[in-house]
Amino acid sequence: MHPISKILHTWYSKNKRDLPWRQTTDPYKIWLSEVILQQTQVVQGMNYYLKFINTYPTITHLANANEDKVLTLWQGLGYYSRARNLHFTAIYICKELKGKFPKTYSEIIKLKGVGAYTAAAIASIAYNEPYAAVDGNVYRVIARLFNVNTPINTTEGKKEFQIIANDLIKQCSLPGLHNNAMMEFGALQCKPTNPLCDTCVLQTHCLAFQKQVQNSLPVKNKTVVVKNRYFNYIVFTYKFHIYIHKRTEKDIWQNLFEFYLIETKGETTHNQVLENNLLQPLKIHIKSINAIKPIKHKLTHQILYTQFIQIDLKTKLSKTYNLQLIKQIDLTKYAFPQPIQRYIEGSLI
Ligand code: SF4
Repeated sequence: MHPISKILHTWYSKNKRDLPWRQTTDPYKIWLSEVILQQTQVVQGMNYYLKFINTYPTITHLANANEDKVLTLWQGLGYYSRARNLHFTAIYICKELKGKFPKTYSEIIKLKGVGAYTAAAIASIAYNEPYAAVDGNVYRVIARLFNVNTPINTTEGKKEFQIIANDLIKQCSLPGLHNNAMMEFGALQCKPTNPLCDTCVLQTHCLAFQKQVQNSLPVKNKTVVVKNRYFNYIVFTYKFHIYIHKRTEKDIWQNLFEFYLIETKGETTHNQVLENNLLQPLKIHIKSINAIKPIKHKLTHQILYTQFIQIDLKTKLSKTYNLQLIKQIDLTKYAFPQPIQRYIEGSLI
């Protein structure tokens, strides 16, 4: 075994956190935990994981679930396509594979929504296959231990880091433990900022520490193009009922619920939304208007400037515009994107 792996495994057995997904080799539970942990920190992820496992203890339960319900459990995690893929793949496994989770890396990676990292995590933890799972923590640990300057978000970098990670896992008898040890070490010891080098068991092996460059690693190219979008939500209410609709287009937040949306090319005040007659085609009879301070919401490639204009109507909308009029917003029944959820919670609709 590689000497670094040996030290890491001993460190892991002494320092690992007691987490529910570490007490199982059920591929369904490991898959679920990995997808959730790609979205959030362990502490918050734990609640989501337990919520999912309690509601859908097996893959069959998840496959039989209603997608809206799955999305409501996912609320707050973002990247809703991941929840949809989880559900889709659960159905696929139950229908096409007779409920049997694939047992090899090469079969697992073919599942919809499962990438190299997740496939390696499942294959190694559930089936002991020697595939290195390289997540953000592992990139950081490898970059520092081996002083690798290649940007991690390039094809070249991904290849280079994967080769080193494969080399470390190659001769391990417990590849699942090794992957967990690498990730845990990155999370607890070799942290993104202020790594705990003084108490590090790998200090003498760490090239970045020797050169004192650990804080500038790993390197990432700043090439992400971020698009600004301006969402003006008109929250129509009528006699204490509220209009909502499901986003069906292929765009962010597909299949989540929202209010009537006017997307504009630039920032628009609520007065402009009203004055520019953006609402005119709706031929509405307004009883009162209330505008709420805009919310800025960041996604990986988009920044959403979202404002809410609450309009109480004298009469129902003459056309439905795919909106449905509901009595009250039940967050356990309807999944809303995070900015809308924040608005709902703040405004107590
Ligand atoms: Fe990370 Fe510091 Fe340990 Fe190097 S010495 S592996 S930078 S914690």
